[in-house]
Order: sequence, then structure tokens, then C-alpha cells
Amino acid sequence: MDISGYTQLLCLIGSPVGHSGSPAMYNYCFEKQGMDYAYLAFDIKKEETAEAIRALKLLHVKGFNVTMPCKTAAKDCCDELSQAAELIGAVNTVVNDQGRLVGHNTDGLGWVQGCRANGIEIKGKKMTIAGSGGAATAITITSALEGIREMSVFAMKDSFYSNAEATVEKIRSHVPGCRVNLYDLSDKAKFYEEIGDSELFTNATRVGMKPLDGESLIGDLHVFRKGLAVSDVVYNPQMTKLLADARAAGCRIVTGLDMLVWQGAEAFRLYTGQEMPVAEVMEGVKGGWKHGKNS
Ligand code: NAD
Repeated sequence: MDISGYTQLLCLIGSPVGHSGSPAMYNYCFEKQGMDYAYLAFDIKKEETAEAIRALKLLHVKGFNVTMPCKTAAKDCCDELSQAAELIGAVNTVVNDQGRLVGHNTDGLGWVQGCRANGIEIKGKKMTIAGSGGAATAITITSALEGIREMSVFAMKDSFYSNAEATVEKIRSHVPGCRVNLYDLSDKAKFYEEIGDSELFTNATRVGMKPLDGESLIGDLHVFRKGLAVSDVVYNPQMTKLLADARAAGCRIVTGLDMLVWQGAEAFRLYTGQEMPVAEVMEGVKGGWKHGKNS
């Protein structure tokens, strides 16, 4: 596509952004679908977030993705927030709706759509989920909003634990129809008992990602059974030990790459009103596009 005076700009802000796969992914889709947009990445530090967003608004950019360390600060610069972004407390996609900046968080919905694309519907189900950081918060809040029946959240007693306590309280007060309980991840007996009673297990911790690659939260392989679907947020490596063990035991699996690509697809729809060619993007990402965190 030729850049013209009509070309609309989309971008990523955060630091670092050089490793990101987002420019390759979005620009490929714009070219393939003949859409007059261009996508760039700008290295913006946390303390520069507000100034950068004011500048993007002045330049009438159509929208932007936000990655660390700007996600929380970006939320305060929006004129309006989606319910999920408000409850999650962080924004990763901002749409410029004729001068009004609307903040969204597509991480959780990306995970839900990744499950659906793999034949797993979360409505009415029970999930055990490990983690209390950014990914876990987005997934638990969005799952509650999307109609999951029950969640057992297991978190390490580290500095993130209070996040999990706050998330559970938010779900109880905003989505009272969803049952949610928080447990200490070191209580392995309870952990395995709750997975045994769930249709879905999700790892939303860093376990499985370097330097914890080759590790899995599930040491007892008897926990895996045919009726259990297993998902992992870690996307590098694409096939974590958790997913390899689960697949070998006959469980259906959802990879971190599914979540990554589908959260991009959600943002693509919010920006352009069109569907992203997900299957081709998935092939592109698997086949060698840069495996950066997308947004
Ligand atoms: P974070 O730093 O906000 O949270 C890290 C979480 O991991 C915390 O809950 C922490 O308690 C837990 N943790 C760390 N070490 C642990 C250990 N040894 N045992 C048990 N728990 C441990 O990170 P985040 O942003 O939530 O990211 C977590 C993972 O999810 C990363 O691998 C990240 O790349 C991935 N991620 C993937 C996507 C995607 O689209 N697929 C999106 C966001 C994050």
C-alpha cells in the first residue's frame, strides 16, 4: 500500500517496543485487505505516557496499543473506559472516537476468543486459574463478565497476592452470579482437588517462560484427564511443558499464542470495524514473525 495524505496512523507505545510483533502483524493485514492504515511502534517511558497520548490525540491517530510500562498510566488519560478496562485497571487498546479516547483491555477477551477458536466455551464452566499479575487479572475479570460459572484462583504469596485479593472482591461485587475463591498456590492438595473439579485449568503465571522454561505448575500428571481443557498464557516457548504434558494426556489445549493473536484481532476490530485474517496471522507468527508481546 502507498502511504498517502489520507493514510490513518495506528501505533504501539511502551518501552521497549523494538521486539514487538505488532507492526508486522497489523501492516500485513492492512496490505492484505487493501486498508489505508499504517502501524508504527514508539518507545515511550512510563513518565512520558500522558504527554505522548496528548500528542497522539493532537495528530488524530485512529488508535494505539499500549504495552508495559505505560498500561496503567494510559488508563488515566482516556475519556472513557470499557467495563473490562475499568475493572482490570489497565488499558492495552485505545480507540480515538472523533477526539474521544476510549480505553479497552483486549487481553482477557483475546484469551476467551482463543478458547472459543479451539472449541472451548467458558460460559457456565468452572475454571481453576493460577496467577495474580496482569494476565491473570485480565482473564479472571473478563471470564466473569463473559459468564463463567465459578473460578478457583491460586496465587503465590508474593507482592502480586494483594492484586488477586482485589480482583476477587471486584468480581464478587460487580458479577455476583460468578462464584470465585482465592487460595494459596503452595497448597498443592487443594490446587489438585480444585483442578479435579474444573472443566478448565489456566496457567497465568510466568512459570514456563524463561528462566522458568521447562517448568510446570502441575507436577502430578494424574491431574490431567480427558474432560479437562488446559490453557497457558506463556507464548514463548509456544509449547510449554504444561501444554505438552496436557496434550500427551489427551487434554484439549489453548496456547499463549492463541491469546496473543486473538487479543490483536479484538483490537483490529475496535480500530477498523473489520475482522482480522486470524488464520493467516497465526501462520505468520508461527512461521517467523517476531514473537514480541503484541500490545
Ligand atoms: P506479571 O509480572 O504481572 O505477573 C506474574 C505472575 O507470575 C504473578 O502472579 C506471580 O505471582 C507469578 N509467578 C512468578 N513466578 C512464579 C513462580 N515461580 N511460581 C508461581 N507463580 C509465579 O506478569 P503478566 O503480565 O501477568 O505475564 C505473565 C505471563 O503471561 C508472561 O509469561 C507473559 O509473557 C504472558 N502474557 C501473555 C499474554 C498473551 O497474549 N499470550 C498476555 C499477557 C501476558
